[in-house]
Amino acid sequence: MSEQTEHVKCLIIGSGPAGYTAAIYAARADLKPLMYTGMEEGGQLTTTTEVENYPGYPKGIQGPEMMKLFREQAERFQTDVRFGIATAVDFSSHPLQVTIDETKLIHADSVIIATGASAKWLGLASEQKHRLNGSGVTACAVCDGAFYRGQDVALVGGGDTAAEEATYLSKLCKKVYMIVRRDQLRASKAMQNRVLGIPNIEMVWDSETVEVLGDEMVNGVLVKNVKTGEQRTLHVTGFFVAIGHNPNTEIFKKWITLDEQGYIKTIPGTSRTNVEGVFAVGDAQDKVYRQAVTAAGTGCMGALDAERYLSDKGLH
Ligand code: NDP
Repeated sequence: MSEQTEHVKCLIIGSGPAGYTAAIYAARADLKPLMYTGMEEGGQLTTTTEVENYPGYPKGIQGPEMMKLFREQAERFQTDVRFGIATAVDFSSHPLQVTIDETKLIHADSVIIATGASAKWLGLASEQKHRLNGSGVTACAVCDGAFYRGQDVALVGGGDTAAEEATYLSKLCKKVYMIVRRDQLRASKAMQNRVLGIPNIEMVWDSETVEVLGDEMVNGVLVKNVKTGEQRTLHVTGFFVAIGHNPNTEIFKKWITLDEQGYIKTIPGTSRTNVEGVFAVGDAQDKVYRQAVTAAGTGCMGALDAERYLSDKGLH
């Protein structure tokens, strides 16, 4: 083994709520987990502002602050948290091999994948400005919808996520404009029927977003009809992007069974994957719920499944 190689019982890849919860449980079970945080330390919550729906914080908490507390709790039980990115894996034999930053090799008896998913964005400069400033652009209606209670908002996308989020927003907001780039929705028929029947949702068909308007805070969205070329300003205070997510699973696809969209397939009711000793938790394996609290729940499952696996194998 070279100096650059290390052997651990439990390697956790990713540092969102799923990864840290796995770390807390694994560390308390004395698995001495090693965590590599990935590029976005703390995960998607570090790019949100107020989190009001995580139980235990009755007054709400800022996303970055919450992830700092997750980290503190994992480190309190001696999780070895390091900054680094898993760049390759070889799950063909045991111990499992994971390369970090293209140079360092980790041999692990068990691996918990908690690499999450990244929201897709339109890529407009005005969209990114308001997203990063927390001034009116978000990719999660369930997380941020409550901040727009009684206001007019716009949402872009035509899939199941967009339909679900528009429905959710319609209950809180005065009006929801749903901007769809074609003349039909991609969402399932049931979701389509639901969303098309809600009186305060206005469909903006065949339209693309030209710009998110507003200097300090969002105060409108400029849209263009792709068939007629006509432009129109929607006067809204919030802009929700719901055009899909990309699970961060690319490096695993040679070994781990993924679904058509790249999400890791786990054995129902467990965090087990098709490879013995490899467990998947959080948004990398969940395209439906995608909440911090559900991610944390599966993180716990991952650690318990890993512990059970290691003891069955006589490795712990
Ligand atoms: P999808 O990929 O299904 O839909 C993305 C939507 O965004 C499409 O309408 C697409 O338009 C539109 N879009 C993509 N890029 C752009 C762009 N640049 N500008 C404007 N619009 C754009 O993603 P979802 O997140 O909705 O769903 C992902 C998967 O998860 C699906 O399989 C879905 O069924 C599933 N899901 C299931 C749920 C449930 O069962 N309750 C809830 C949520 C998701 P176009 O149609 O033109 O390509």
